[in-house]
Amino acid sequence: MINLTAKQISAVLNGEFFASSSFQDYTISEIITDSRTFFGGSNVAFFALSGPVFNGHNYIAQLRKKGVQIFIVSDKNFVDDKASYILVKNTGFALQQLAAYNRKQFLQPVIGITGSNGKTIVKEWLYDLLSTELKIVRSPKSYNSQVGVPLSALLIDTQYDLAILEAGISKPEEMQRLEPIIKPEIGVLTNIGDAHQENFQSLDEKLNEKLKLFVDAEKLVFRADRFYSKTTLDFCLQNSITPVNWSLEEQTATIQFKCTAKSSSTTIEARINQKHYSFVIPFTDDSAIENACHCFATIIALEKNPKDFLAQFTKLQPVAMRLEIKQGINNCLLINDYYNSDLNSLSIALSVLKQQAAKSHLHKHVILSDIQQTGIETVELYSKVNQLLHEWGINKLTGIGEALYKHQHIFKLESEFYTNRHEFEKHFARSNYSSSAILLKGARQFEFEKISSLLQQKAHQTVLEINLNALVHNLNTFRKLLHPETKIMVMVKAFSYGSGDVEIAQLLQHQNVDYLAVAVADEGVQLRNAGITIPIVVMNPEHDSFQNMIDFNLEPNIYSLQLLQQFEAAVTEFGITNFPIHVKIDTGMNRLGLKTEKEIEQVIEFIVKSKHLHIQSVFSHLAGSDDQELDDFTHQQFERFAHLSGLIEKAFDYKIDKHILNSAGIERFPNHQMNMVRLGIGLYGISQTGLQLQQISTLRTTVSQVKTIESNETIGYNRRGKVLHQSRVAIVPMGYADGINRRLGNGLGSAFINGQEARMIGNICMDMLMLDVTNLDVSPGDTVEIFGPNISISTLAQLLETIPYEILTGISQRVKRVYLQE
Ligand SMILES: *Cc1c(COP(=O)(O)O)cnc(C)c1O
Repeated sequence: MINLTAKQISAVLNGEFFASSSFQDYTISEIITDSRTFFGGSNVAFFALSGPVFNGHNYIAQLRKKGVQIFIVSDKNFVDDKASYILVKNTGFALQQLAAYNRKQFLQPVIGITGSNGKTIVKEWLYDLLSTELKIVRSPKSYNSQVGVPLSALLIDTQYDLAILEAGISKPEEMQRLEPIIKPEIGVLTNIGDAHQENFQSLDEKLNEKLKLFVDAEKLVFRADRFYSKTTLDFCLQNSITPVNWSLEEQTATIQFKCTAKSSSTTIEARINQKHYSFVIPFTDDSAIENACHCFATIIALEKNPKDFLAQFTKLQPVAMRLEIKQGINNCLLINDYYNSDLNSLSIALSVLKQQAAKSHLHKHVILSDIQQTGIETVELYSKVNQLLHEWGINKLTGIGEALYKHQHIFKLESEFYTNRHEFEKHFARSNYSSSAILLKGARQFEFEKISSLLQQKAHQTVLEINLNALVHNLNTFRKLLHPETKIMVMVKAFSYGSGDVEIAQLLQHQNVDYLAVAVADEGVQLRNAGITIPIVVMNPEHDSFQNMIDFNLEPNIYSLQLLQQFEAAVTEFGITNFPIHVKIDTGMNRLGLKTEKEIEQVIEFIVKSKHLHIQSVFSHLAGSDDQELDDFTHQQFERFAHLSGLIEKAFDYKIDKHILNSAGIERFPNHQMNMVRLGIGLYGISQTGLQLQQISTLRTTVSQVKTIESNETIGYNRRGKVLHQSRVAIVPMGYADGINRRLGNGLGSAFINGQEARMIGNICMDMLMLDVTNLDVSPGDTVEIFGPNISISTLAQLLETIPYEILTGISQRVKRVYLQE
């Protein structure tokens, strides 16, 4: 950011400034909005953003302790004399205002990219192509939202020659707020498709919204041979924008491309104003060709000589959009981020490393390549890296590359350096890596994927891939149905419904949920050992586990007088007072719980007399919240709960939380949310009412072998797989021991390969199954989806006449869980 004093910022924001005189001239060079990813530093200002699900103001005290002195707030109650404050109406808009101001001071060109797909790839490729000549600042990762765009624009300062920013929108009216922040001279519209369609009436409406980014642009790059091209061209004419449109067919476009594909590369010839150029990209798929053409057209729009960049096109690499988290060798956890290498993305990756390493015992190890950031002088760059590593509490650095090797004296932590990857590999010993969370962060040409394969646990090729972003999306979707003060208990029993408990619990803790609930104490102990500190409730507290529950502060569900007496005796023995408990009332499920007034009165009488226990909450469970036909019964349960929980509330002079809703209950009876809800299946992506949830898991494997079967042959055990004519089958390394229901065999189930469904054929075996791939283009190594984006868990459940819960929790533990985070 271009440096501003606190007073100047206050003026830009039209805010009310509360500060001691010494702070008026305090310069600010960095803006933060997320307290979780800040670990110290000076000249920082914090914007207390508030949304339906969180309130940034609550983190002010904590940040003050870490040294932040200037806060932009919208709630006057938080203004005190312990720091300086700028009071504004809306902190989100204020952030956008400041970003727009910062942008205005920048006199070099800005490229603004939007569209349905390809934004991030075009941005990254432009960066790769142009950074040989220009100092470029760009959006970190896919920071393209209402908060991400201003944060990206605030990275701009005068040392750069060019800024490349991307913008994404999911509903109308968002783009006009982003436009003044980006104000591109050159616009790029990548394409218009179905992504994020749910909030738009039509594709036309979406196109018109996206075009708003370009109203003030000088030039616009877009395709001339698409359904939206005509509208886009009209838009250019109306707003005096020079179209730089291109086409693979259209003769009237500014640039015409012609492609010739070989087996692993494509030669693209470009014709513009009688001039011809030719370049090669190492890809053959349509979307890569489209993205490369956009890049070429943008170079034309920048009025650069394309000849200077043609050779760079050959070196373009796939852009890994996500961070991968995998099990490594010797109890290591691998975090692969090959996305790009610069200070901003390093900082983001370090925050993930820290979060994952909170599996307390893991050391934090970073394997880093030279950072090819133009714009900062090398010594300063690596001093900043050293500072970041220090701030994030990193234990060890492995540096790979000439520049790191040369500047190794800068680093003040345990470290080792190699001039290149081959040197590293020569000295590699597996035994040097154990019990560490390892972040692999390398510029693409360093090919860190080869290091990753050295460190990766060689697994069974079958994985259950969990998308942590989808999980957060689902959590927030439910939060929107709740009042801000309603607490959330998330059910992470049965390995988080089969999704793997520790990683999910860590994420939930990071997302500030109030409670986690597990089935048995052992699950709770495992979470505590992994660094989970938020309250945990044990639904089935067994007598043998009382000691563990007390040692690890796990709160029992008390469902009977007998259990209460036994647990109280155990707590008393330890001399503990006010141990938190949760009392369960049975209002009609007829499972665990206190059912009659008499039972409840006995329990009250007992607890009133004991100083050892404290009732944290009273709750009950609905038997049919997902079933409309049972709504009368559900309402009876609500009434019964109100009555019986009232008896308990009356007997104590402290506040006791009450809760009865599970996921379907939250969706269908939100006015019964009381103080807390218990979220389960909904978090994992299953909705009863058609909420826009995202499926969080994909079960996939790869084809081991493909073979041809003659019409008189059979497939598999008991010769059950019969074919009528010559067929092809794919053999897949996944069977009922992995949790694939054996009833899916013999044509009931199917899998998704290369864009098509293939029926299961023959009996499913313990570790293998067979798919009929006659007429499909399938070869060994191809990916097979059992459920995921193309086959929903609900569909599979219907096929098997069961419920999604059983499908999710049935995937066996030997299937590796792999976590993805954007
Ligand atoms: C599992 C469970 C839930 C969550 O139910 P979902 O239908 O998955 O939302 C809530 N409360 C109790 C007591 C549970 O055991």
